[in-house]
Amino acid sequence: MTTNAAPPETKDGHTDSSDRVGTAVSIDCKSLFEDPTFVHQPTSRPAVSFSDRVRRSEKPPISYLMEQGLANPNVISLAAGFVDNASLPVDEVRQAATTILADRDTALAALQYGTTDGYPELRRQIVEQIARLDERTPSDLGLDPQRVIVGTGSQQLLYLVGEVLLDPGDIVLLGVPGYFVYMGALESFGARIVPIRTDEEGLDPEAVEAALEAIDAEGNLERVKFIYDVSYFNNPTGLTLSEPRKRALVEIAQRWSKRHRIVVVEDAAYRELRYRGSDLPSMLRFDPDGQTVLYAGTFSKPFSPGMKTGYVIVPTEFREPLINQKGHEDFGTSNLNQHLLAELMRSGAYQSHLKTLRDVYREKMRVTIETLEAELRPVRERVSWTSPEGGLYVWLTLPEEILTSRGSPFFEDCLKEGMLYVPAEFFYPRSATDVPHHCLRLSFGVPPLDRVREGVRRLARVVLRHLG
Ligand code: PMP
Repeated sequence: MTTNAAPPETKDGHTDSSDRVGTAVSIDCKSLFEDPTFVHQPTSRPAVSFSDRVRRSEKPPISYLMEQGLANPNVISLAAGFVDNASLPVDEVRQAATTILADRDTALAALQYGTTDGYPELRRQIVEQIARLDERTPSDLGLDPQRVIVGTGSQQLLYLVGEVLLDPGDIVLLGVPGYFVYMGALESFGARIVPIRTDEEGLDPEAVEAALEAIDAEGNLERVKFIYDVSYFNNPTGLTLSEPRKRALVEIAQRWSKRHRIVVVEDAAYRELRYRGSDLPSMLRFDPDGQTVLYAGTFSKPFSPGMKTGYVIVPTEFREPLINQKGHEDFGTSNLNQHLLAELMRSGAYQSHLKTLRDVYREKMRVTIETLEAELRPVRERVSWTSPEGGLYVWLTLPEEILTSRGSPFFEDCLKEGMLYVPAEFFYPRSATDVPHHCLRLSFGVPPLDRVREGVRRLARVVLRHLG
């Protein structure tokens, strides 16, 4: 009789499954019956054969930072891109829930499954809201609720956009430093991420044009599927794509689309978190035919991430494939949350809460920048940071000799001092070669004001020590 042998035990008593696949050996059957002390050894099994997508995926970098935060309870984390806790809209949601549940028919509808594309009333409100922000009528923008799909956060919809467009080897142009969670998703699809430089005005259209020409010269134009950018208060730099550049990007995509269709995915997750200056038009304004721009928005940042509801506005061709994929995945986002959000928008509670939230974050942003100014005055000419008009992030650039990477002396010293940031490398694709390892992201979203101030002070102390 043969069986799979148990893997050998290692020194610390764990089984070593490094070769994963068990080896077939024979055992003496007699011992099973004659030896009363015989203990059945669990058989090793061949390792699970995970999908190519799983093999291409790495543990999300955010997990590493969360572990650091958990392992060091006294640390002030200016790492997580999460939102302010104290200002979460408890009363507003309670009121909306009461209204919905007070009417039995509405309550029954909200507690039942909804449709895959989302609650029609919420989709209508979303169209109205975008038109208001863009200071146009929905029809000027070519918008109607049929072009809106609601999802479990905009992350799900961005993921689905990747799923409907990308085969391994397909190309996405993406501004760097850029949103790392999406980069991880794109890498799991086997996409080739072509990093595009960004500056004070955001993604550089000339660099996009040059990249497309280079890809075309390689003979790979057909593999280019989309350009992705976080156009308002980018995660991680806090910088915003200027209006002329938005226009230029849409124009570039439209021009190249005469030969091979390329779309632009505008991720507007932070659009409504503006604390000064006036709103900029979305790229939808430059795409009245509605064939080039996919616009992703979320209720997580401007309202409540616990409701985990977002949306995407798409060219009509995308509607069916996206809904089919979403159908395979979950055939609809929480209907109750969608009813709540539609009620919150209808009653005006959403808009008035946003005003409160802007005040909270304006103050946190002010404290972050003022503390940097005050504490880093002695080295002011050697250190710089962005001063965004909105969003949750500030990007800090140190002298090149200071490495901010995880595990670097600077990173470890910050942990010892009691603060955590996100190193620059997280915001670049794995393939990137020119990562500015002397930069880092600070987020003031979660901690209360005095902890934000103290976290920045701790960082500044370490910077001064390393530059001293
Ligand atoms: N886009 C960007 C740029 C983000 O920072 C986030 C959240 N961190 C999302 C999209 C997704 O947010 P959600 O899925 O909660 O809507």
